This record gives sequence, structure tokens and C-alpha cells, in this order.
Amino acid sequence: MQPLAAMTWEEARDARGPSSVAILPVGAIEAHGPHLPLETDVIIAQAMARSGAARLAARGMRVVVLPSLTYTAAAFAQGFAGTLSLRPETVTATVLDIAGSLTRHGFGVLAIANAHLDPGHLASLEAAVDAIRRDLGLVVACPSLASKPWALRLSDEFRSGACHAGQFETSMVLAERPELVREATRAALPPNPASLSRAIRDGKQSFEEAGGPLAYFGFPSQATAEEGRKTVEVLGAILDEAVQAELSVGRGR
Ligand SMILES: [Zn+2]
Repeated sequence: MQPLAAMTWEEARDARGPSSVAILPVGAIEAHGPHLPLETDVIIAQAMARSGAARLAARGMRVVVLPSLTYTAAAFAQGFAGTLSLRPETVTATVLDIAGSLTRHGFGVLAIANAHLDPGHLASLEAAVDAIRRDLGLVVACPSLASKPWALRLSDEFRSGACHAGQFETSMVLAERPELVREATRAALPPNPASLSRAIRDGKQSFEEAGGPLAYFGFPSQATAEEGRKTVEVLGAILDEAVQAELSVGRGR
């Protein structure tokens, strides 16, 4: 597996093919509590991409990892400094254009390693995936971690909906980039079990309205690097299995 951006164009030409998988890590630049960096979702998406790429390569598939999409829709966090939010239609157009280039150059599969769960962002990705399938005919896998069956593989805290900058995400940043965790702050943070997913269903529009005045939910003080390493492997397995599922749907057509 190789980062596309480090290849020459001739190496990229040789890496393409109907069974070549291009993985797009998708995160956000948005507030993640007082203890995690704005790029938390990018770090998690890149870890998911790396783990998924290793599994796909072990099956004998050719894999390239694309540069991450780090700007996206992040309306829930836009009241917090540093959050950079795009309009959802900009995100849909960007992902569709990336997929168009991959199709033109002969890659067969796009796998989206998405770690950002803002509802406007998820809707923009869904719209992009629909358009890619309809207009480009590229095989695309985009497992939604908050939905079945994938959510069933994730932690109780995650499934409770307290899934932003809590134990789940903090553990992965501790595993991947421990130097970016404000450790003294993290260890002292009180739990915030408010369910963000329930608040979204109830029509709330921001972290503040959802009961997260410091832009975190869940139990960051209980995070461990060990849990983070395990979760990264689960996310990689989900990406791999989502690609296999799309390929078997394609073969059945
Ligand atoms: Zn996050």
C-alpha cells in the first residue's frame, strides 16, 4: 500500500486496474473537547485507512491511500473556535470530483474511511455515493459507523450516542498521536453521558444545544491507548468487509 500523493504519475498509472482500491480518509477540522486536537477525526480516518489497506493488501488487492479530505461540513461544532465548516453541497461535489478522476484513470474501487459523524456531513457523503454509483459506475464502499451492522462492532459508549471526543475517540488519538492529547486536562474531565445521536434525532443543531458546552460527550478520562489500538483494528476490518460486500454485490449484478 502506498500513498498516492508520494507516487509519480507513472507509478499511479501502474497501480490502477479494475480491482485496485483507492482509500479516501475523511475527517474534519472541528472542536473535540478541551483535550483533543481539531484534527482528531482526520487522525482516526487515517488510522482506519492504514488498517483497512493492510487487510485489503493481504487479500492480494492493490491499494493506494489518497490524500485525506480534511475540510468538510461540521455545523454542530461551528460555534467553537478553529472549526472550519464547508457547505454540504461543497463536500458532495468534492467527493464526486475525486471519484470522477479515479474513474477516468482506471481505478475500480473507492473506499471511504470516514470518521466524522456530523449529520450534514453524513448526508453530503450519502449524496456523493449515490451520484458516484448512478453517474460513474465506480464501485464505492462507505461504511457508516453509526448504522447497523457496523455500529454493533463498536463500544457501548459509542452506541449510546455519546460518541464525540469521549472514550472511543480519545483512545484512538492516545494510540496514534499521544503527544497531541492534553493529558492533564483529559484525566480530570468529568463524564458527559449526554447522547449526541439522540439530540440529533430530536432536532438539535449544535453541540451546545445537545448538552456538550465544551464540545465533548462520553468518558474521555477512561480512554486508553490499548482500547484505541483495538478500535483501529476493528475500523480497518469494517472497511475491508465493506469493500468485499460491495464487490460481491457487483459480481451478483
Ligand atoms: Zn470526532
